[in-house]
Amino acid sequence: MQLLIGIDDVDSPYGMCTTYAGALIVEALSKIEDITFLDYPFLIRLNPNIPFKTRGNGAVAFHLEVPEYYYENLKEIITDIIKKALIKGKRKPEPVIVFSKRENAELRRFYEKALTSMVTLSYAERLVDKLGIEYYALESGKRGLIGALAAIGAVPLEEYTFELLMYRNPSKRGRRIINEKLVMDIDRRYRDYVFANFDFSSKRILAIPHGPDPVLIGIRSVNPLILNEIRVLLARGCKDLERWIIYKTNQGTGVHLKRVLKISAIKPYDSCTISGVISSDPLILKGGHVKVRVKDETGEIDCLFYRETGFLNKVARLLKPGDEVIMGGGVRPASSKHGLTLNVEILNVVKTVKVEKMYNPICPNCRHRMKSAGRKKGYKCPKCGFKTKKAEKEIVIKGRILEPGLYLPSPLAYRHLSKPRRLIGWKGTEIKYLVELWHFP
Ligand SMILES: [Zn+2]
Repeated sequence: MQLLIGIDDVDSPYGMCTTYAGALIVEALSKIEDITFLDYPFLIRLNPNIPFKTRGNGAVAFHLEVPEYYYENLKEIITDIIKKALIKGKRKPEPVIVFSKRENAELRRFYEKALTSMVTLSYAERLVDKLGIEYYALESGKRGLIGALAAIGAVPLEEYTFELLMYRNPSKRGRRIINEKLVMDIDRRYRDYVFANFDFSSKRILAIPHGPDPVLIGIRSVNPLILNEIRVLLARGCKDLERWIIYKTNQGTGVHLKRVLKISAIKPYDSCTISGVISSDPLILKGGHVKVRVKDETGEIDCLFYRETGFLNKVARLLKPGDEVIMGGGVRPASSKHGLTLNVEILNVVKTVKVEKMYNPICPNCRHRMKSAGRKKGYKCPKCGFKTKKAEKEIVIKGRILEPGLYLPSPLAYRHLSKPRRLIGWKGTEIKYLVELWHFP
């Protein structure tokens, strides 16, 4: 029988992540002859605007072919691995494992909601009851149910990329020993196939995390065969490599911003795209963030370009009232200090307005620019004294620096789901099958 398994909230700020637990499960299951992986393991990112979730959090799913008689056994194996992987600290993980025997349109909708809005635990609980999905909460809470359920709802992904994750043992601490020059060489050599490894403006390697989790390096790519080439190169330049795995993932697909909303329909914590007209001059706030208002036929909303978005923040300063824009991002709830705000992740300038500037007319005698002689009194030349009531102001159309086009943040501000420039217009990978080598051990 086919089986979908979803896992979430194994993460701990003290050194565990759900993807590592996923790699342990792959190692165990790949040794069992009766079990077949029907696809890569899935790493599913959900709405990045939901509070309480750590930024790096991702849920994991597996799509397996399992003999009926092995099902109970399998549940035990997986539950045991997760229990052993848990690290308990101040932030208690609330891991949940779900098992479902089929894909389901309602699960699919649940994934889409969890990707773009705030879903409640009670909604998730109602859904598992209705669909008769088995789940196990391994600790006192069920926070992981939402992610685990959404992860199996995501299978099979329509649009996807891959991530090679290389790990050290979770007990290892301290600086990761990786040849950074090698990482930069790899980025240069495979630039057409990899993304979000490096931020050139800040000269930071994004592929190497700094937290206590066991990830040594994560390389994102559109092609698992290329990831295997890269892995061989990287293995020579990093210390403490314990295991590696290639996940299929919704990262880099921009799928969280696919929903287009009218401004009046926007709710706190939504991820969405709006289409409207700039209705205020950009305001530069303390800290260098830029705020601008956008309206459509249903309402108006503040849009914020954080300084950290780098290039995008610079572009936002060039917007003018009347410019037509489409922009996507995450919605911050209103507070006593600000209204409902869209934190912009992507800006499409559809059309820029012409900016006119008016000048006093030139003196016909001496070619000097005249001055106003007072309200409704015409103009007077300050040089030769010429006066006239007939001259008209000169209107000059100023060229705009900002051109219509698509503007993205600097890579440093990318979120897991953000679509990098090189993937815009990309039609998806050619490699739709499971490559021979996709995990070790
Ligand atoms: Zn004059």
